[in-house]
Amino acid sequence: MVALVWFKRDLRLGDHPALARAMAAGPVVPVCIVEPDYWRQGDVSGRHYAFLRESLESLRADLRTRGSDLVLRVGDAVEVLDRLRHETGAAELFSHEETGNAWTFARDRRVAAWARGQGVRWVELPQCAVIRGPHDRDRWAATRNRFVTGDVVPAPRALPPVGLRSDPLPARLGGEEDCPGRQTGGRGAAEALLDSFLTRRGLTYRKAMSTPLDGAAACSRLSPHLALGTISVREVMQATAARQRAVRGTRDGWVGSLKSFQSRLAWRDHFMQKLEDEPELETRCLHRAYEGLRPATPDRARLEAWCKGETGLPFVDACMRSLRATGWLNFRMRSMVMSVASYHLWLDWRATGLHLARMFTDYEPGIHWSQVQMQSGTTGINTLRIYNPVKQGRDQDPEGVFTRRWCPELADVPDMYLQEPWRWQGRVDYPPPLIDVAQAARAAREAIWAVRREDGFRDEAARVVRKHASRKDPGRHFVNDREARARTRGRDERQLKLDL
Ligand SMILES: Cc1cc2nc3c(=O)[nH]c(=O)nc-3n(C[C@H](O)[C@H](O)[C@H](O)COP(=O)(O)OP(=O)(O)OC[C@H]3O[C@@H](n4cnc5c(N)ncnc54)[C@H](O)[C@@H]3O)c2cc1C
Repeated sequence: MVALVWFKRDLRLGDHPALARAMAAGPVVPVCIVEPDYWRQGDVSGRHYAFLRESLESLRADLRTRGSDLVLRVGDAVEVLDRLRHETGAAELFSHEETGNAWTFARDRRVAAWARGQGVRWVELPQCAVIRGPHDRDRWAATRNRFVTGDVVPAPRALPPVGLRSDPLPARLGGEEDCPGRQTGGRGAAEALLDSFLTRRGLTYRKAMSTPLDGAAACSRLSPHLALGTISVREVMQATAARQRAVRGTRDGWVGSLKSFQSRLAWRDHFMQKLEDEPELETRCLHRAYEGLRPATPDRARLEAWCKGETGLPFVDACMRSLRATGWLNFRMRSMVMSVASYHLWLDWRATGLHLARMFTDYEPGIHWSQVQMQSGTTGINTLRIYNPVKQGRDQDPEGVFTRRWCPELADVPDMYLQEPWRWQGRVDYPPPLIDVAQAARAAREAIWAVRREDGFRDEAARVVRKHASRKDPGRHFVNDREARARTRGRDERQLKLDL
């Protein structure tokens, strides 16, 4: 009997356990559903859709060369699947588990209910190390290592033909226009990036990843591909491991860079696990005591200035404008723009996080919302890091190349005043800063600290630690609440970094 293989955030044929499992049982129909209601959600955008379309075209071409096709349908997932069940007689549905946003979570519950009701067996398999259902956080890293070092599933050589129609895809979805400088979707682009990173671009990764200019070339740029699954994290880790064996003992920088890269890849699943375990973290502060700390309705003028790159803080504005035009920012600059929004501008992370989600071509809900909360100080367990945007500009863009490229109105401002043009005597057509950087950082720190001193703070922090914290350091295994609370006490004392 035929089975449906539902392609979601796994748009590839190589290392696709769900496809392999379905094929082992019989003929398969590869399906992808474009859901207009999903594309009306606040965290998605036209650039995501454009990247998706390219990736679907690439997947379809790969299927066609193997004798099959991709059946593309537009509509509600349950209705589409129900129609396909009638058209094919399929009694089995295969897909990968998806750690998506609240909308996809609710949709998957509806699909599960439909499958149960229709007697369809829905087989969902993991495609990365994220674990669904109850699990032991203490053993998470070991489980992850087993998964990523496991066998990569080879792409099938041939598939049976498919005689089903496809719907034409809408030219645009997701509201906002496409982004002219964004990355290109599809398997070929992912493979080319991996190859150029491992053989050339990655050499300076460790040093260059923090700067927005050099980082754009020296980082892997695989994030949108990992987000839509045109390449799997296991494929990337194993290709990197092979390269690590090849460069072992060399001293030109590869060894350190590849080690750093592997640890970033490990963070991916670690952060995604948080959303899998607590889907509410997309909309609620991880540490509940931070609820209500910032105004629920953010100051409109500040929010708009931040989104547009018109805060009067040159390095922040350059980052926000560059992001709008290219769909990407390096990790440190993402942290800085989030930190400035949450601390200096005192904006609620939900509103700013939505804007960034729409701007990042690589929007991955599990990484995104965990990082957004972490950089806003609402997890209650992480280092409170308040970045100083003036210092960051001087450190990461000492000659002002990046700042002037995206803020051309500052072209004539001398280097020493570039990150603080309000101190320059010359004339410049650029907004004054929305806030006083040092004063705003101090006020934010005091407000966050006041919450940390409240009764019951540690108990809640202990809950967050038990559920979500990395167990990387030896000795970080808690058998009871007392140990967990002791750990959070240590964090309170140690973990404040003010970037003044
Ligand atoms: C506020 C904020 C929001 C973010 N939102 C996203 C998002 O929506 N999607 C996304 O993929 N990344 C997100 N990141 C993490 C990180 O900035 C990007 O993964 C990285 O910049 C992507 O570029 P790259 O692929 O060249 O990364 P590389 O440095 O080459 O890293 C390789 C891969 O490792 C993973 N990775 C790297 N850094 C991190 C990290 N800090 N946490 C978790 N995984 C990581 C990503 O999958 C990345 O593609 C966010 C970071 C912050 C501070």
